[in-house]
Amino acid sequence: MKKILVTGGAGYIGIHICLLLLEQEFDVVIVDSLTNSNENSIKRLFDYKNKNFDIKNSTLQFYKGDIRDLEFLRKVFLESRNSGNSIDNVIHLAGLKSVSQSIDFPGKYWEVNVYGTLQILKVMEEFECKNFVFSSSATIYSQMQESPLNENAQISPINPYGKTKATVEEILKDFSKNKKQFWNFISLRYFNPVGAHPSGMFGEDPIGIPNNLFPYICQVGSARRDTLSIFGNNWPTNDGTCIRDYIHIMDLADGHIAALNFLNGEIDKVGSFIAVNLGTGVGTSVLELVEIFEKVNKLKINTHFTSRRLGDKAVVYANPEMAHKVLNWTSKRNIEDMCRDAWNWQLKNPSGY
Ligand code: NAD
Ligand code: UDP
Repeated sequence: MKKILVTGGAGYIGIHICLLLLEQEFDVVIVDSLTNSNENSIKRLFDYKNKNFDIKNSTLQFYKGDIRDLEFLRKVFLESRNSGNSIDNVIHLAGLKSVSQSIDFPGKYWEVNVYGTLQILKVMEEFECKNFVFSSSATIYSQMQESPLNENAQISPINPYGKTKATVEEILKDFSKNKKQFWNFISLRYFNPVGAHPSGMFGEDPIGIPNNLFPYICQVGSARRDTLSIFGNNWPTNDGTCIRDYIHIMDLADGHIAALNFLNGEIDKVGSFIAVNLGTGVGTSVLELVEIFEKVNKLKINTHFTSRRLGDKAVVYANPEMAHKVLNWTSKRNIEDMCRDAWNWQLKNPSGY
């Protein structure tokens, strides 16, 4: 049985990945400081596992702690090794993710996202663990690049958050050339992960006022907020609003299983780095999204236009061919599924976890 360490496993993306890992009979170790998540997500995961006969065979452990704490990380790896079932893969999601916060607190972002990643790599090296999946972002692509975006498009992030992601990719590339350790790295560049587990037990639970479109729409739908501000109506798109590539959270989680299968596949990678987009290749405008959300969930979302948001780009969507070719992965869920599952989560958990 493979044992996977998921850093940031209590967060929005992490909890959905852990769920799938358990279902696929991987042993899962979660490390999370809970700085941007809620321990109830972990409790629900334990509940889900205990109630679901199919996934009783896999093991689940949770360690609360910070990825910058080397001794803490060593303890996590050591306990697994001592149990006779060492950690052999890491999915690294722990990090800070707000673009605007990263402008206000750049030092914190470099420390957690870059220094924190270096600490994990250091401990992995000590414990001879070489397979590493990294959470990167489409935000690292240059603003000047036209969509669909290929993996070889120019990398030129414009904010500290994006710069930390691009820097980690550079670090991984350098490490992959070190023939002493034979690292296997895959960097997954997410487009816009949205939606929730279809059970309604797991979903996105932002602290405070949501920055992102989907949770904001959900909170307007449930009357927790009055109206959605749409950032700009004069973008060079059909309806004047920005276009993004929304990807269902369960498809994104599937992409991580595909990445693990790739890293652990028969062909020995012997020191490799590859970057792969996780997107659908389909662009949806803000107005289209609001309309679909209203139709699928039979409700009204109040909206008004405001000025453009600093740093936004008119059109961003992926070329997802590489993921298909290398990982044998394609997205299966459409925008209607994303709207339905996000709303189901919101209805069942009006105040989150
Ligand atoms: P999230 O904030 O819900 O999850 C991140 C988790 O990391 C949280 O549970 C948080 O408590 C934990 N964490 C933060 N700092 C930590 C530290 N120092 N030590 C230990 N744990 C720490 O975010 P998410 O949306 O699940 O994103 C997961 C990863 O994916 C992040 O690295 C993010 O940058 C990346 N990503 C997210 C998106 C997105 O739209 N959600 C897009 C592209 C990339
Ligand atoms: N957006 C909006 N109102 C909001 C939040 C977002 O109009 O309250 C728009 C934003 O300008 C962008 C799209 O919705 O075009 C997706 O924004 P989000 O922050 O979710 O993702 P990202 O900007 O990272 O692609």
